[in-house]
Amino acid sequence: MQGKLVIFSAPSGAGKTTIVQHLLKVFPDLEFSISACSREIRRGETFGVDYYFLSIEEFKEKIANNEFVEWEEVYTDNFYGTLRSEIERIWRKGNHIIFDMDVVGGLNLKKQFGDQALAIFVMPPSIDHLESRLKMRETETPESIARRIGKAEKELETASQFDKIILNDNLERALEEAENIVGEFLKL
Ligand code: 5GP
Repeated sequence: MQGKLVIFSAPSGAGKTTIVQHLLKVFPDLEFSISACSREIRRGETFGVDYYFLSIEEFKEKIANNEFVEWEEVYTDNFYGTLRSEIERIWRKGNHIIFDMDVVGGLNLKKQFGDQALAIFVMPPSIDHLESRLKMRETETPESIARRIGKAEKELETASQFDKIILNDNLERALEEAENIVGEFLKL
C-alpha cells in the first residue's frame, strides 16, 4: 500500500483541530502526525501525544542532521517541524497520515509529496470570528491573540493554493464535508 498524506492547514482558531480529531475517529487507518516543537509545554499537554517537545538546541541539531521533512520558526524561537522518522513510523504500520499544521508547512509538504498528498485549507467565517474563538481559549494572552490574528490575515491569502477549501461557518456541515473529501481521497 502506498501511504498517503492528508494535510489540514488554517489560521489558528479556525477549527482545524476539531475537524482533524473527528476524522481520526471516523477513519481507523488515519494516524495523526505528531510534530516536534521547541515551545514550552502547556498545562494538559503530553510529550509524544501533543508534540515531541525539544529544546531549541535539540531542534537545531535535528535541522542540521536533516531529520525534518519540513520545519519552520513559526514565532521567534518557537520552532515546529515534521520529523522524517514520524512519517516512516506511521507508514510502517500501514496507516495514512493526517497533519494539523500552519499554511506554510502544509504547502511545503504538498509541494514535496504531490498527488500522494491532499492539502485542505479550513476557512474561518471571518477574522472577528477567529478573534472571539481565540479569546475563549484560556491559554492565550492578549499579545498571543494579536500575534495570531496578524498571522491569520496573511494566511487567508494562501487559501487558493490548496487542493480544497472547507468553509467552517457551520461545524456540522464542515465535518461532513471533510469526511466526504477525505473518504474520496483515501479510496483512490
Ligand atoms: P501551537 O503552539 O498553537 O500548538 O501551534 C502553533 C502553530 O504551529 C500552529 O499554526 C500549528 O499549526 C503550527 N505547527 C504545528 N506543527 C507544525 C509542524 O510540524 N510544522 C509546521 N510548519 N507548523 C506546525
